[in-house]
Amino acid sequence: MMFADPLRLACPRCAATVYQRQLWSGNSLGARYYSDRKREAPMLPTFPSFSKCPKCGELFWVRDLKPSEDVNAPQWGPSESYLDLLDLEDTVRFLEEKNETGDSELKVRTQLLQLYNDRVRYRVDQRTRAENEAVLWKSDADKERWQKNLERVGELTKEIAPDDATFSAEIARELGRFDEAVAILDVAGKTGDPEGNYEARVVAKIREKCAASDPFVFQCSTRRRSIL
Ligand SMILES: [Zn+2]
Repeated sequence: MMFADPLRLACPRCAATVYQRQLWSGNSLGARYYSDRKREAPMLPTFPSFSKCPKCGELFWVRDLKPSEDVNAPQWGPSESYLDLLDLEDTVRFLEEKNETGDSELKVRTQLLQLYNDRVRYRVDQRTRAENEAVLWKSDADKERWQKNLERVGELTKEIAPDDATFSAEIARELGRFDEAVAILDVAGKTGDPEGNYEARVVAKIREKCAASDPFVFQCSTRRRSIL
């Protein structure tokens, strides 16, 4: 993996120079894929499409930023001036402030559901259902926020990507609506195959989890290797 020169951008509020990392080359070696579409690839890191100014906290889409006008800003800034993925609370704040719709809303809300799943992701199979629920939701209000987000992701997916029955089924499953998840797959003719291609294996696993009334995120078997 090699990094290219980072982008030097300007915070729209405080004008601080903020840096967006850029990849020159990478690969998916050692990548892990999860049922909620999160990808963790040590050699193919993900850079944020929306973030916040490390200096003043302003939230923004990175695509909206203009180049930094600070002629003294070094090409490679100090580590604290690089843009990072937002954490859960900042992602909620982003949704509240920006009032996005359509694709943009789906993107932010998908990150939010992944951030919730991060709470259970890594030891999910070692905990009981009650233990997983206890780490997934910190309070009743938190659970309500989690649920509303998932429901909205489900609506948006049906609007924007009506053919993506696998993801729609996964959302229903994570909401604990197992019959609905299976029905979505049935209608789309997705029977699943544990020995089939990547998607067929994911579908088979979603069906297996539904049969076991298991709503938690799971790690998918490895996807074929891709090179960027
Ligand atoms: Zn700022």
